[in-house]
Amino acid sequence: MGVQKKKVAVIGGGPAGMEAALTTARYGCEVTLITDSHPGDWKMAGTAAWLQAIASLSPYAGIESLSPRRINEAVQDVISRSRVSAAEQLRAAGVAVQHGRACFQSAQILTVAQEQREPMDIHADLIFIANGARPHFPEAMKPDGRQIYSYTTLTDMERLPASVIVVGDGPIGYEAVNLFSRFGAQVDWLVEANGPRCFFDPDIDAWLTGIYRRRKVNIRSGERVKAIHKQDGRVTAIREDGTEQEAEAAFITLGFRPNVDQLNIEAAGLTMNGYGSVDCNPFGQTAIPSIYIAGDAQRTIAGVYSITMARTAALHAVGRSPEPVDVRTIPFAFNDAPEVATVGMTDADATGIHSRVVHYNTERNGKAFLQGETEGFLKLLWNDEGRIVGGTAVGLQAKDIISTVAMMIRFKLGIGDCQLLIGAHPSASEFLVHTLHAIHDQHAGVQS
Ligand SMILES: Cc1cc2nc3c(=O)[nH]c(=O)nc-3n(C[C@H](O)[C@H](O)[C@H](O)COP(=O)(O)OP(=O)(O)OC[C@H]3O[C@@H](n4cnc5c(N)ncnc54)[C@H](O)[C@@H]3O)c2cc1C
Repeated sequence: MGVQKKKVAVIGGGPAGMEAALTTARYGCEVTLITDSHPGDWKMAGTAAWLQAIASLSPYAGIESLSPRRINEAVQDVISRSRVSAAEQLRAAGVAVQHGRACFQSAQILTVAQEQREPMDIHADLIFIANGARPHFPEAMKPDGRQIYSYTTLTDMERLPASVIVVGDGPIGYEAVNLFSRFGAQVDWLVEANGPRCFFDPDIDAWLTGIYRRRKVNIRSGERVKAIHKQDGRVTAIREDGTEQEAEAAFITLGFRPNVDQLNIEAAGLTMNGYGSVDCNPFGQTAIPSIYIAGDAQRTIAGVYSITMARTAALHAVGRSPEPVDVRTIPFAFNDAPEVATVGMTDADATGIHSRVVHYNTERNGKAFLQGETEGFLKLLWNDEGRIVGGTAVGLQAKDIISTVAMMIRFKLGIGDCQLLIGAHPSASEFLVHTLHAIHDQHAGVQS
Protein backbone atom coordinates (compact mmCIF):
# COMPACT_ATOMS: atom_id res chain seq x y z
CA MET A 1 0.00 0.00 0.00
CA GLY A 2 1.36 3.46 -0.97
CA VAL A 3 2.00 6.18 1.62
CA GLN A 4 -1.03 8.49 2.03
CA LYS A 5 -0.32 11.98 0.76
CA LYS A 6 -0.80 14.74 3.33
CA LYS A 7 -3.92 16.77 2.58
CA VAL A 8 -3.28 20.52 2.67
CA ALA A 9 -5.85 23.31 2.51
CA VAL A 10 -4.71 26.90 1.91
CA ILE A 11 -7.12 29.78 2.61
CA GLY A 12 -6.41 32.69 0.27
CA GLY A 13 -4.88 32.96 -3.20
CA GLY A 14 -2.68 36.06 -2.72
CA PRO A 15 1.12 35.90 -2.72
CA ALA A 16 1.26 34.07 0.65
CA GLY A 17 -1.39 31.49 -0.32
CA MET A 18 0.22 30.86 -3.72
CA GLU A 19 3.62 30.32 -2.12
CA ALA A 20 2.26 27.97 0.57
CA ALA A 21 0.27 25.96 -2.02
CA LEU A 22 3.10 25.64 -4.56
CA THR A 23 5.73 24.76 -1.95
CA THR A 24 3.66 22.09 -0.17
CA ALA A 25 2.66 20.61 -3.56
CA ARG A 26 6.34 20.41 -4.51
CA TYR A 27 6.90 18.33 -1.38
CA GLY A 28 4.28 15.78 -2.41
CA CYS A 29 1.17 17.05 -0.59
CA GLU A 30 -2.34 16.95 -2.03
CA VAL A 31 -3.17 20.65 -2.01
CA THR A 32 -6.43 22.58 -2.32
CA LEU A 33 -6.25 26.36 -2.54
CA ILE A 34 -9.47 28.10 -1.52
CA THR A 35 -9.92 31.64 -2.73
CA ASP A 36 -12.76 34.10 -3.07
CA SER A 37 -10.93 35.99 -5.84
CA HIS A 38 -8.52 35.07 -8.63
CA PRO A 39 -5.45 33.15 -7.49
CA GLY A 40 -2.32 35.22 -7.82
CA ASP A 41 -4.02 38.62 -7.54
CA TRP A 42 -1.87 41.13 -5.72
CA LYS A 43 -3.27 44.00 -3.71
CA MET A 44 -0.68 46.20 -5.36
CA ALA A 45 -2.81 46.24 -8.51
CA GLY A 46 -3.62 49.75 -7.18
CA THR A 47 -1.02 52.50 -6.92
CA ALA A 48 2.01 50.28 -7.63
CA ALA A 49 0.57 48.89 -10.87
CA TRP A 50 -0.49 52.38 -11.95
CA LEU A 51 3.00 53.76 -11.36
CA GLN A 52 4.52 50.90 -13.32
CA ALA A 53 2.05 51.38 -16.15
CA ILE A 54 2.90 55.09 -16.29
CA ALA A 55 6.64 54.31 -16.27
CA SER A 56 6.24 51.88 -19.18
CA LEU A 57 3.79 54.00 -21.22
CA SER A 58 5.03 57.55 -20.72
CA PRO A 59 8.30 57.27 -22.72
CA TYR A 60 6.17 56.43 -25.77
CA ALA A 61 2.95 58.33 -25.23
CA GLY A 62 4.17 61.25 -23.08
CA ILE A 63 2.69 61.59 -19.61
CA GLU A 64 0.35 64.42 -20.59
CA SER A 65 -1.47 62.16 -23.07
CA LEU A 66 -2.14 59.40 -20.52
CA SER A 67 -5.70 59.21 -19.27
CA PRO A 68 -6.93 57.05 -16.37
CA ARG A 69 -8.65 54.88 -18.98
CA ARG A 70 -5.39 54.26 -20.86
CA ILE A 71 -3.56 53.42 -17.64
CA ASN A 72 -6.41 51.19 -16.51
CA GLU A 73 -6.24 49.27 -19.78
CA ALA A 74 -2.52 48.66 -19.24
CA VAL A 75 -3.09 47.61 -15.61
CA GLN A 76 -5.98 45.29 -16.54
CA ASP A 77 -3.80 43.73 -19.22
CA VAL A 78 -1.09 42.99 -16.64
CA ILE A 79 -3.69 41.59 -14.22
CA SER A 80 -5.24 39.27 -16.85
CA ARG A 81 -1.83 37.95 -17.88
CA SER A 82 -0.83 37.38 -14.26
CA ARG A 83 -4.11 35.50 -13.61
CA VAL A 84 -3.44 33.18 -16.53
CA SER A 85 0.12 32.63 -15.33
CA ALA A 86 -1.00 31.90 -11.73
CA ALA A 87 -3.65 29.41 -12.92
CA GLU A 88 -1.04 27.67 -15.09
CA GLN A 89 1.45 27.45 -12.22
CA LEU A 90 -1.16 25.90 -9.93
CA ARG A 91 -2.33 23.46 -12.62
CA ALA A 92 1.25 22.39 -13.39
CA ALA A 93 1.90 21.81 -9.67
CA GLY A 94 -1.31 19.74 -9.34
CA VAL A 95 -2.94 22.21 -6.90
CA ALA A 96 -6.76 22.06 -6.92
CA VAL A 97 -8.48 25.45 -6.76
CA GLN A 98 -11.79 25.83 -4.92
CA HIS A 99 -13.57 29.15 -5.40
CA GLY A 100 -15.45 30.45 -2.37
CA ARG A 101 -15.03 31.81 1.15
CA ALA A 102 -13.57 29.45 3.71
CA CYS A 103 -14.12 29.38 7.45
CA PHE A 104 -13.28 26.85 10.14
CA GLN A 105 -15.71 24.21 11.26
CA SER A 106 -13.03 22.46 13.33
CA ALA A 107 -9.21 22.25 13.37
CA GLN A 108 -9.35 19.81 10.44
CA ILE A 109 -12.48 20.90 8.56
CA LEU A 110 -13.13 24.04 6.56
CA THR A 111 -16.54 25.01 5.22
CA VAL A 112 -16.44 26.80 1.87
CA ALA A 113 -19.37 29.07 1.02
CA GLN A 114 -19.85 29.23 -2.76
CA GLU A 115 -22.04 31.46 -4.87
CA GLN A 116 -25.33 29.81 -5.89
CA ARG A 117 -24.17 26.43 -4.61
CA GLU A 118 -24.42 24.49 -1.38
CA PRO A 119 -21.49 25.05 1.01
CA MET A 120 -18.92 22.27 0.90
CA ASP A 121 -16.58 20.84 3.55
CA ILE A 122 -12.88 20.31 2.99
CA HIS A 123 -10.96 17.99 5.33
CA ALA A 124 -7.24 18.62 5.68
CA ASP A 125 -4.25 17.38 7.70
CA LEU A 126 -2.61 20.81 7.42
CA ILE A 127 -4.31 24.19 7.04
CA PHE A 128 -2.64 27.49 6.05
CA ILE A 129 -4.35 30.75 6.93
CA ALA A 130 -3.27 33.19 4.19
CA ASN A 131 -6.39 35.28 3.78
CA GLY A 132 -4.65 38.65 3.95
CA ALA A 133 -5.81 41.95 5.37
CA ARG A 134 -8.31 44.62 4.30
CA PRO A 135 -7.84 48.38 4.21
CA HIS A 136 -9.31 50.25 7.12
CA PHE A 137 -11.50 53.29 6.46
CA PRO A 138 -13.31 55.22 9.20
CA GLU A 139 -17.05 55.58 8.55
CA ALA A 140 -16.66 59.32 7.87
CA MET A 141 -14.22 58.79 4.96
CA LYS A 142 -15.27 55.74 3.01
CA PRO A 143 -14.08 55.64 -0.63
CA ASP A 144 -16.93 56.06 -3.14
CA GLY A 145 -14.92 55.68 -6.36
CA ARG A 146 -16.16 59.07 -7.59
CA GLN A 147 -14.57 61.70 -5.35
CA ILE A 148 -12.98 59.64 -2.58
CA TYR A 149 -10.54 57.02 -3.82
CA SER A 150 -8.41 54.29 -2.29
CA TYR A 151 -6.06 51.85 -3.99
CA THR A 152 -9.08 49.56 -4.42
CA THR A 153 -11.14 52.13 -6.34
CA LEU A 154 -8.51 53.77 -8.57
CA THR A 155 -9.96 51.73 -11.43
CA ASP A 156 -13.20 53.76 -11.07
CA MET A 157 -11.40 57.02 -11.86
CA GLU A 158 -12.57 58.36 -15.21
CA ARG A 159 -10.88 61.74 -15.17
CA LEU A 160 -7.73 62.97 -13.49
CA PRO A 161 -8.67 65.46 -10.77
CA ALA A 162 -6.92 68.85 -10.93
CA SER A 163 -6.42 68.83 -7.15
CA VAL A 164 -6.20 65.93 -4.70
CA ILE A 165 -5.94 65.55 -0.94
CA VAL A 166 -3.95 62.45 0.01
CA VAL A 167 -4.71 61.34 3.56
CA GLY A 168 -2.16 59.01 5.18
CA ASP A 169 1.46 58.05 4.60
CA GLY A 170 3.30 54.70 4.57
CA PRO A 171 4.43 53.29 1.22
CA ILE A 172 0.94 53.58 -0.30
CA GLY A 173 0.67 57.26 0.69
CA TYR A 174 4.04 57.93 -0.96
CA GLU A 175 2.96 56.06 -4.10
CA ALA A 176 -0.32 57.96 -4.31
CA VAL A 177 1.41 61.36 -3.97
CA ASN A 178 3.94 60.30 -6.61
CA LEU A 179 1.13 59.20 -8.94
CA PHE A 180 -1.03 62.32 -8.70
CA SER A 181 1.86 64.80 -8.67
CA ARG A 182 3.48 63.19 -11.74
CA PHE A 183 0.23 63.89 -13.56
CA GLY A 184 0.45 67.51 -12.56
CA ALA A 185 -2.41 67.49 -10.07
CA GLN A 186 -2.10 69.91 -7.16
CA VAL A 187 -1.53 67.60 -4.18
CA ASP A 188 -2.11 68.45 -0.52
CA TRP A 189 -0.72 65.64 1.60
CA LEU A 190 -2.27 65.42 5.06
CA VAL A 191 -0.18 63.36 7.48
CA GLU A 192 0.22 63.17 11.22
CA ALA A 193 2.58 65.44 13.18
CA ASN A 194 5.80 63.43 12.73
CA GLY A 195 5.04 62.42 9.15
CA PRO A 196 5.27 61.67 6.37
CA ARG A 197 7.00 58.38 7.07
CA CYS A 198 7.39 55.29 4.94
CA PHE A 199 8.33 53.32 8.11
CA PHE A 200 11.47 51.85 6.53
CA ASP A 201 14.40 54.32 6.41
CA PRO A 202 14.13 58.04 7.33
CA ASP A 203 16.60 58.80 4.50
CA ILE A 204 13.95 57.57 2.04
CA ASP A 205 11.44 59.98 3.62
CA ALA A 206 13.87 62.90 3.27
CA TRP A 207 14.70 62.10 -0.37
CA LEU A 208 11.14 61.54 -1.56
CA THR A 209 9.68 64.54 0.23
CA GLY A 210 12.43 66.64 -1.43
CA ILE A 211 11.29 65.42 -4.86
CA TYR A 212 7.62 65.92 -4.05
CA ARG A 213 8.19 69.46 -2.74
CA ARG A 214 9.90 70.32 -6.02
CA ARG A 215 6.68 69.18 -7.73
CA LYS A 216 4.84 71.71 -5.54
CA VAL A 217 3.23 69.09 -3.30
CA ASN A 218 2.07 70.74 -0.06
CA ILE A 219 3.04 68.51 2.84
CA ARG A 220 0.75 69.37 5.72
CA SER A 221 1.57 67.58 8.97
CA GLY A 222 -0.76 68.01 11.89
CA GLU A 223 -3.61 66.35 13.71
CA ARG A 224 -5.45 63.33 12.37
CA VAL A 225 -8.08 63.78 9.70
CA LYS A 226 -11.43 62.77 11.22
CA ALA A 227 -13.82 63.19 8.28
CA ILE A 228 -14.15 64.02 4.59
CA HIS A 229 -17.21 65.97 3.53
CA LYS A 230 -18.47 66.11 -0.05
CA GLN A 231 -20.30 69.12 -1.42
CA ASP A 232 -20.81 70.70 -4.87
CA GLY A 233 -18.22 68.50 -6.56
CA ARG A 234 -15.53 69.30 -3.92
CA VAL A 235 -14.22 67.39 -0.93
CA THR A 236 -13.18 68.90 2.40
CA ALA A 237 -10.92 67.06 4.83
CA ILE A 238 -11.53 68.02 8.46
CA ARG A 239 -8.83 67.48 11.10
CA GLU A 240 -9.33 66.75 14.81
CA ASP A 241 -8.48 70.42 15.56
CA GLY A 242 -11.15 71.61 13.13
CA THR A 243 -8.78 72.85 10.38
CA GLU A 244 -9.93 72.11 6.85
CA GLN A 245 -8.42 71.39 3.45
CA GLU A 246 -10.40 71.44 0.20
CA ALA A 247 -9.81 69.80 -3.21
CA GLU A 248 -11.55 68.13 -6.13
CA ALA A 249 -10.88 64.59 -4.90
CA ALA A 250 -9.32 62.69 -2.02
CA PHE A 251 -7.23 59.52 -1.78
CA ILE A 252 -7.29 57.65 1.54
CA THR A 253 -4.77 55.17 2.94
CA LEU A 254 -5.03 54.55 6.66
CA GLY A 255 -3.72 51.05 7.32
CA PHE A 256 -4.97 47.48 7.28
CA ARG A 257 -6.78 44.95 9.47
CA PRO A 258 -6.14 41.19 9.21
CA ASN A 259 -9.05 39.19 7.76
CA VAL A 260 -8.64 36.50 10.44
CA ASP A 261 -11.79 37.73 12.22
CA GLN A 262 -13.85 36.34 9.30
CA LEU A 263 -12.64 32.73 9.73
CA ASN A 264 -14.46 31.53 12.86
CA ILE A 265 -11.07 30.53 14.29
CA GLU A 266 -12.58 29.67 17.69
CA ALA A 267 -14.05 26.55 16.07
CA ALA A 268 -10.48 25.43 15.37
CA GLY A 269 -9.46 26.01 19.00
CA LEU A 270 -7.58 29.24 18.25
CA THR A 271 -7.97 32.65 19.88
CA MET A 272 -7.51 36.11 18.41
CA ASN A 273 -4.57 38.23 19.61
CA GLY A 274 -4.56 42.01 20.21
CA TYR A 275 -3.49 42.68 16.60
CA GLY A 276 -6.56 40.89 15.23
CA SER A 277 -4.59 37.84 14.14
CA VAL A 278 -3.46 34.62 15.85
CA ASP A 279 -0.12 34.09 17.58
CA CYS A 280 2.40 31.82 15.91
CA ASN A 281 5.99 30.66 16.36
CA PRO A 282 8.79 31.91 14.03
CA PHE A 283 7.72 29.26 11.48
CA GLY A 284 4.13 30.47 11.32
CA GLN A 285 2.82 27.52 13.35
CA THR A 286 -0.11 28.41 15.62
CA ALA A 287 -1.12 26.88 18.98
CA ILE A 288 -2.84 24.13 16.95
CA PRO A 289 0.26 22.49 15.38
CA SER A 290 -1.49 21.54 12.13
CA ILE A 291 -2.60 25.15 11.47
CA TYR A 292 -0.13 27.71 10.09
CA ILE A 293 -0.55 31.39 9.34
CA ALA A 294 1.40 33.60 6.91
CA GLY A 295 1.27 36.90 5.07
CA ASP A 296 -0.79 39.97 5.80
CA ALA A 297 -3.17 37.82 7.88
CA GLN A 298 -0.32 37.39 10.37
CA ARG A 299 1.44 40.75 10.04
CA THR A 300 0.86 43.40 7.41
CA ILE A 301 4.28 44.61 6.28
CA ALA A 302 4.83 43.80 2.61
CA GLY A 303 4.35 41.18 -0.06
CA VAL A 304 7.97 40.12 0.18
CA TYR A 305 7.49 39.34 3.90
CA SER A 306 4.28 37.43 3.08
CA ILE A 307 6.02 35.21 0.55
CA THR A 308 9.06 34.59 2.75
CA MET A 309 6.89 33.72 5.75
CA ALA A 310 4.67 31.43 3.65
CA ARG A 311 7.63 29.49 2.26
CA THR A 312 9.11 29.08 5.74
CA ALA A 313 5.74 27.90 7.11
CA ALA A 314 5.26 25.47 4.21
CA LEU A 315 8.74 23.95 4.63
CA HIS A 316 8.20 23.58 8.38
CA ALA A 317 4.79 21.97 7.84
CA VAL A 318 6.19 19.33 5.48
CA GLY A 319 8.87 18.39 8.00
CA ARG A 320 11.87 20.28 6.62
CA SER A 321 14.00 22.43 8.95
CA PRO A 322 13.80 25.96 7.56
CA GLU A 323 15.58 28.86 9.22
CA PRO A 324 13.15 31.21 10.95
CA VAL A 325 12.38 34.37 8.99
CA ASP A 326 14.94 37.09 9.73
CA VAL A 327 13.48 40.47 8.80
CA ARG A 328 17.01 41.94 8.75
CA THR A 329 17.66 40.06 5.52
CA ILE A 330 14.37 40.90 3.75
CA PRO A 331 14.63 43.63 1.09
CA PHE A 332 11.61 45.95 1.35
CA ALA A 333 10.69 48.05 -1.65
CA PHE A 334 8.00 50.32 -3.03
CA ASN A 335 7.42 53.11 -5.55
CA ASP A 336 8.50 53.54 -9.14
CA ALA A 337 10.34 56.49 -10.73
CA PRO A 338 12.14 56.62 -8.41
CA GLU A 339 12.31 53.06 -7.12
CA VAL A 340 13.14 52.78 -3.42
CA ALA A 341 14.39 49.78 -1.46
CA THR A 342 16.02 49.04 1.85
CA VAL A 343 17.36 46.09 3.82
CA GLY A 344 18.78 45.50 7.28
CA MET A 345 20.08 48.30 9.47
CA THR A 346 19.33 51.90 8.59
CA ASP A 347 20.74 53.65 11.65
CA ALA A 348 24.15 54.92 10.62
CA ASP A 349 24.62 56.51 14.07
CA ALA A 350 24.44 53.19 15.96
CA THR A 351 27.58 52.26 17.90
CA GLY A 352 30.10 50.30 15.83
CA ILE A 353 28.23 50.95 12.58
CA HIS A 354 29.74 52.86 9.66
CA SER A 355 28.00 54.17 6.60
CA ARG A 356 28.62 55.79 3.27
CA VAL A 357 26.12 57.54 1.04
CA VAL A 358 26.90 57.88 -2.66
CA HIS A 359 24.77 59.95 -5.03
CA TYR A 360 24.08 58.74 -8.55
CA ASN A 361 24.98 62.00 -10.22
CA THR A 362 28.48 62.13 -8.71
CA GLU A 363 29.54 58.59 -9.61
CA ARG A 364 30.20 56.84 -12.89
CA ASN A 365 27.21 54.85 -14.10
CA GLY A 366 26.67 54.25 -17.79
CA LYS A 367 23.17 52.80 -17.39
CA ALA A 368 21.93 55.77 -15.36
CA PHE A 369 23.26 58.22 -17.92
CA LEU A 370 21.88 56.19 -20.85
CA GLN A 371 18.44 56.12 -19.25
CA GLY A 372 18.58 59.71 -18.09
CA GLU A 373 17.85 58.62 -14.50
CA THR A 374 20.76 60.10 -12.61
CA GLU A 375 18.94 61.13 -9.45
CA GLY A 376 19.21 58.86 -6.46
CA PHE A 377 21.56 57.50 -3.85
CA LEU A 378 22.93 54.34 -2.35
CA LYS A 379 23.67 54.06 1.35
CA LEU A 380 25.64 51.09 2.64
CA LEU A 381 26.18 50.23 6.29
CA TRP A 382 28.88 47.96 7.68
CA ASN A 383 30.07 47.03 11.15
CA ASP A 384 33.47 47.13 12.84
CA GLU A 385 34.34 43.74 11.36
CA GLY A 386 33.69 45.08 7.88
CA ARG A 387 30.50 43.02 7.36
CA ILE A 388 27.66 44.61 5.38
CA VAL A 389 24.67 45.07 7.75
CA GLY A 390 22.31 47.31 5.80
CA GLY A 391 21.60 49.29 2.68
CA THR A 392 19.14 51.72 1.17
CA ALA A 393 18.85 52.72 -2.47
CA VAL A 394 16.72 55.25 -4.30
CA GLY A 395 16.77 55.57 -8.08
CA LEU A 396 17.57 53.38 -11.05
CA GLN A 397 16.97 49.70 -10.29
CA ALA A 398 17.16 50.34 -6.57
CA LYS A 399 15.16 47.14 -5.94
CA ASP A 400 17.70 44.96 -7.75
CA ILE A 401 20.67 46.67 -6.11
CA ILE A 402 19.20 46.15 -2.64
CA SER A 403 18.34 42.51 -3.40
CA THR A 404 22.09 41.99 -3.98
CA VAL A 405 22.88 43.79 -0.71
CA ALA A 406 20.34 41.50 1.03
CA MET A 407 22.31 38.48 -0.21
CA MET A 408 25.52 40.01 1.14
CA ILE A 409 23.87 40.43 4.56
CA ARG A 410 22.33 36.95 4.45
CA PHE A 411 25.66 35.31 3.68
CA LYS A 412 27.51 37.55 6.16
CA LEU A 413 29.89 38.88 3.53
CA GLY A 414 32.51 41.50 4.30
CA ILE A 415 33.47 44.49 2.18
CA GLY A 416 36.69 42.68 1.30
CA ASP A 417 34.70 39.87 -0.36
CA CYS A 418 32.00 42.07 -1.87
CA GLN A 419 34.38 44.47 -3.61
CA LEU A 420 35.57 41.52 -5.70
CA LEU A 421 32.12 41.29 -7.34
CA ILE A 422 31.76 42.64 -10.88
CA GLY A 423 28.65 44.19 -12.38
CA ALA A 424 27.73 43.83 -16.06
CA HIS A 425 28.29 46.97 -18.13
CA PRO A 426 26.25 49.05 -18.49
CA SER A 427 24.10 48.16 -15.50
CA ALA A 428 22.89 49.68 -12.25
CA SER A 429 24.85 46.94 -10.44
CA GLU A 430 28.04 48.81 -11.33
CA PHE A 431 26.85 51.56 -9.02
CA LEU A 432 26.93 49.08 -6.12
CA VAL A 433 30.33 47.76 -7.20
CA HIS A 434 31.82 51.28 -7.45
CA THR A 435 30.45 52.14 -4.01
CA LEU A 436 32.00 48.98 -2.54
CA HIS A 437 35.32 49.82 -4.19
CA ALA A 438 35.21 53.33 -2.72
CA ILE A 439 34.50 52.01 0.78
CA HIS A 440 37.15 49.31 0.44
CA ASP A 441 39.82 51.66 -0.83
CA GLN A 442 39.11 54.23 1.86
CA HIS A 443 39.00 51.71 4.68
CA ALA A 444 41.54 49.15 3.47
CA GLY A 445 42.48 47.22 6.57
CA VAL A 446 39.05 47.44 8.25
CA GLN A 447 37.43 44.53 6.45
CA SER A 448 37.81 40.85 7.22
C1 LIG B 1 -1.33 49.55 -3.15
C2 LIG B 1 -0.39 48.51 -2.61
C3 LIG B 1 0.91 48.44 -3.09
C4 LIG B 1 1.79 47.47 -2.59
N1 LIG B 1 3.06 47.42 -3.07
C5 LIG B 1 3.93 46.50 -2.59
C6 LIG B 1 5.27 46.43 -3.08
O1 LIG B 1 5.67 47.22 -3.94
N2 LIG B 1 6.08 45.49 -2.56
C7 LIG B 1 5.67 44.61 -1.60
O2 LIG B 1 6.48 43.75 -1.17
N3 LIG B 1 4.40 44.65 -1.11
C8 LIG B 1 3.53 45.57 -1.59
N4 LIG B 1 2.26 45.63 -1.10
C9 LIG B 1 1.84 44.70 -0.04
C10 LIG B 1 1.40 43.36 -0.63
O3 LIG B 1 0.50 43.56 -1.69
C11 LIG B 1 0.76 42.52 0.47
O4 LIG B 1 1.65 42.44 1.56
C12 LIG B 1 0.45 41.13 -0.04
O5 LIG B 1 -0.51 41.18 -1.06
C13 LIG B 1 -0.06 40.24 1.10
O6 LIG B 1 -0.24 38.96 0.58
P1 LIG B 1 -1.25 37.92 1.28
O7 LIG B 1 -1.27 36.74 0.39
O8 LIG B 1 -0.87 37.74 2.69
O9 LIG B 1 -2.66 38.66 1.30
P2 LIG B 1 -3.59 39.19 0.12
O10 LIG B 1 -2.77 39.68 -1.01
O11 LIG B 1 -4.54 40.13 0.78
O12 LIG B 1 -4.37 37.90 -0.36
C14 LIG B 1 -5.35 37.29 0.45
C15 LIG B 1 -6.34 36.62 -0.46
O13 LIG B 1 -7.24 35.85 0.35
C16 LIG B 1 -8.56 36.02 -0.16
N5 LIG B 1 -9.47 35.73 0.97
C17 LIG B 1 -9.74 36.52 2.04
N6 LIG B 1 -10.58 35.89 2.89
C18 LIG B 1 -10.84 34.68 2.34
C19 LIG B 1 -11.63 33.56 2.74
N7 LIG B 1 -12.30 33.56 3.90
N8 LIG B 1 -11.68 32.48 1.92
C20 LIG B 1 -11.00 32.45 0.75
N9 LIG B 1 -10.24 33.49 0.31
C21 LIG B 1 -10.15 34.57 1.11
C22 LIG B 1 -8.59 37.46 -0.63
O14 LIG B 1 -9.60 37.69 -1.57
C23 LIG B 1 -7.20 37.59 -1.25
O15 LIG B 1 -7.21 37.19 -2.60
C24 LIG B 1 1.35 46.58 -1.59
C25 LIG B 1 0.05 46.65 -1.09
C26 LIG B 1 -0.82 47.61 -1.59
C27 LIG B 1 -2.21 47.69 -1.05
